[in-house]
Amino acid sequence: MAKPIRAKKSFGQHFLHRTDIAEKIAYSLNREKDYGHVLEIGPGQGMLTQFLTDRAFTLHAIEADRDMIPILAEKFPDLKDRIIQGDFLKLHLGEQFKEEQIAIIGNFPYNISSQILIRMVDSRWLIPELVGMFQKEVAERVVAPPGSRTYGVISVLCQAFYDAEYLFTVDRSAFDPPPKVQSAIIRMTRKENYELGCDPKLFRKVVKQAFSQRRKMLRNTMKAMLVDSPLLEEEFFTLRPERLSVEDFVKLTKWVAAM
Ligand code: SAH
Repeated sequence: MAKPIRAKKSFGQHFLHRTDIAEKIAYSLNREKDYGHVLEIGPGQGMLTQFLTDRAFTLHAIEADRDMIPILAEKFPDLKDRIIQGDFLKLHLGEQFKEEQIAIIGNFPYNISSQILIRMVDSRWLIPELVGMFQKEVAERVVAPPGSRTYGVISVLCQAFYDAEYLFTVDRSAFDPPPKVQSAIIRMTRKENYELGCDPKLFRKVVKQAFSQRRKMLRNTMKAMLVDSPLLEEEFFTLRPERLSVEDFVKLTKWVAAM
């Protein structure tokens, strides 16, 4: 019998042991016809991977833990040459996949889940879709609509370019070892038109600035970016950041750009 694998904390390892859930996640990619490649982040021992091989797309995988590579190579001989050993956060997607469209899937390590989302946004022209397991609380923030308590920077940055859907909750007991918190699967589908109509770098700065004090009116938080502007007297600036839609943030960014 194979030696049991002890999960490593440093790699954020929580192995899914529910095959039915793994299958459901693997089939949550729903725009498969639009792309030829899928990258699985953190395959571990291949729980999700087993439902991703033999599909219409070409599967690739990146795994940080060296010890997992021989296990994966043995289980999935056809995938062997497309397993990258390394840190996803250091991967140059465009170079690695020759600027081809590549969807992302994974039961992500929680310690880097927000950074994975930021990378998705930063490489949005390459990533048409992402399906992933997140800490439930992060998943809720990503999909939160304007006006809700959990709507914040990550919601706006993701929803500016992607349609975000909360698919289902996964109980702690589905993992070995069980994490401290509940998990959830979300699907991000890139918008048909993902041009913002304003400078995306400035957009990010504006969103961060507006949420730097989420209980304060924009009149106060945006003062430094709109020095002495008469705009600050307008009704719009009595709002708090959590009321603003993506379009409102675009409008605000254009005002800042015109200063
Ligand atoms: N998909 C597997 C394992 C999930 S645990 C399952 O569902 O059972 C998260 C996995 O991500 C682990 O295998 C861990 O080694 C890997 N990992 C952690 N940090 C990573 C990183 N920066 N880049 C790529 N993989 C990483």
